Amino acid sequence: MTDAPYQALTIDTLPARLGSIDALTSRIGPPASWRSREVGDGNLNLVFIVDGERGSIIVKQALPYVRLVGESWPLPLKRSFFEYHALIRQEARAGKGAVPEVFHYDETQALIVMEFLTPHVILRRALIEGRMPPRIASDLGLFMARTLFRGSDFSMTARERKADLALFADNVELCDITENLVFTDPYFEAPLNRHTSPELDGMVAELRADRDLKVEAQALKHLFAARAETLLHGDLHSGSVMVTDADTRVIDPEFAFYGPIAFDVGMLLANYWMAFFAARGHEGGKPRDEMRAWLLSVITDTWNVFHAEFSRLWRTERKGMLYASSVFEDRGDPLAAEQALQRVLGDIFTDMLGFAGVEMHRRILGLAHNADFEEIAEQKLRGACEMRALKLGRHLAVNRRHIRSLSEVNELAVRLD
Ligand code: ADP
Ligand code: MG
Ligand code: MG
Ligand code: MG
Repeated sequence: MTDAPYQALTIDTLPARLGSIDALTSRIGPPASWRSREVGDGNLNLVFIVDGERGSIIVKQALPYVRLVGESWPLPLKRSFFEYHALIRQEARAGKGAVPEVFHYDETQALIVMEFLTPHVILRRALIEGRMPPRIASDLGLFMARTLFRGSDFSMTARERKADLALFADNVELCDITENLVFTDPYFEAPLNRHTSPELDGMVAELRADRDLKVEAQALKHLFAARAETLLHGDLHSGSVMVTDADTRVIDPEFAFYGPIAFDVGMLLANYWMAFFAARGHEGGKPRDEMRAWLLSVITDTWNVFHAEFSRLWRTERKGMLYASSVFEDRGDPLAAEQALQRVLGDIFTDMLGFAGVEMHRRILGLAHNADFEEIAEQKLRGACEMRALKLGRHLAVNRRHIRSLSEVNELAVRLD
């Protein structure tokens, strides 16, 4: 299959086409025994579970277009290349067991063979069902601190980091999706937008006429585009996390790109605030008070774990060219390093709130909605839940520089709810 040109796999052709790859047969057995099913519920790619006589494996293959939209929206296969390279780096930086293990990569076929996570479920699904996976705050707080710190000039040699910056700079088309869908389209009548109507019509018109908000959204886009600070996951929402009560894995880093540390953190926390507001829509007579409080605690805990681990890495692994110990600790001024750390974390906090704000907006006003709200069947109720998230999002984007703590944000979320 190495020399053949790209062709999308089907459940029928998969055994013949992948049956001679050692990385598969050695793990799941000979192809005669394979059964495949396509389980991709994502917006972009094919994902197959292949069951063999000795086990199961995941085959993820990029399509030359956006699955959600169809062939009219072409999207390059090379996103699979970036996903592969990001998975390798995330495992090296966050440790084995943070992401699925990669067994095989074929650049021409744009396919990655990886560990089948079981009995894991998508975190978004777990949250919609009212489950409270106990490890997510600590596991994802650590994941973000380690991948984001260790992919940056705080930690890498300048040469290594610049080589990675160049490698991922070519992920132009996926970046373009983020640049348009997150920062721009929600704020005007872009053709692919949709929202719960008529419930949100008034609010949508208000947001699109909100000059302060539009300026902030573009300032955040400026930050996203200009601050090539670290290797981001780039799509770190609750649909890119798979969990059990004992394990947390981050999947699907095809949007990987050099951008601001605050982007991944903000996107993840935004998805928790959306889960919080959506919870009212999934109660069906069984109140979710405990879960709502838990979600808010996950938000503060995630940030606290991120903050503590980032600080630890700052003190022990700051080997890159930025904030070098040669001007701080080595000159007998360790407090300068601490002051710089507080400043760096303060900026991440402020920007993270802004990214969270626009992420909430785009999931309600843009093209890519999330199931948390979409699966609230009763439209009035859905609109009411979405409205609260829009309001919080506006507050975060516009007032982020004046917000001092997450408990302050959570108090507002509770008042809106
Ligand atoms: P897309 O890029 O199209 O969003 P994802 O990587 O998010 O694709 O995968 C889509 C779905 O396939 C996931 O939501 C999950 O249900 C399933 N999946 C993906 N990778 C794995 C894995 N390693 N183990 C088990 N299921 C997986
Ligand atoms: Mg996905
Ligand atoms: Mg783990
Ligand atoms: Mg994806």
